[in-house]
Amino acid sequence: MEASKTIALVAHDNRKPALLEWVRYNWVTLIGHKIVCTGTTGRLVEETIIEMAGGTAPDGLQVRRLKSGPLGGDQQLGALIADGQIDAVIFFWDPMSPQPHDVDVKALLRIAVLYDVPMACNRSTADFVISSPLMHKEYSPSPIDLASYIDRKIP
Ligand code: PGA
Repeated sequence: MEASKTIALVAHDNRKPALLEWVRYNWVTLIGHKIVCTGTTGRLVEETIIEMAGGTAPDGLQVRRLKSGPLGGDQQLGALIADGQIDAVIFFWDPMSPQPHDVDVKALLRIAVLYDVPMACNRSTADFVISSPLMHKEYSPSPIDLASYIDRKIP
């Protein structure tokens, strides 16, 4: 994991205002990294950063938008994690409402744990992650031992 990271930002609809407030607070730091988002979150994140920068896209702004979460965006993000392309996930999921894509949400949470990708699911954890000195250093995650699974004996 390099000193400049690829950070995924995702928020369910009821949590988008909280994520955007966090983006407003951290936009200067965020533009030093690549950003990957599910579709709607990405549109709002990009608009928010441009607004904070005074109306034009600041140098370095990179927001890659996947599909909207319920349309497969969570699964696309999970695939990027499995490919080692995501360094941190900020995922403000909604603890108070069922989602049509609950199974995809669960899969995203699982794959991030499996590959030891730091994942913040609320504001305070996101604050701790973005302000960590490790954000500006190289870091090697320690995924769960996959080799013993791949080489397992099948009866
Ligand atoms: P959205 O998806 O950013 O397209 O709203 C978020 C999600 O539900 O995962």
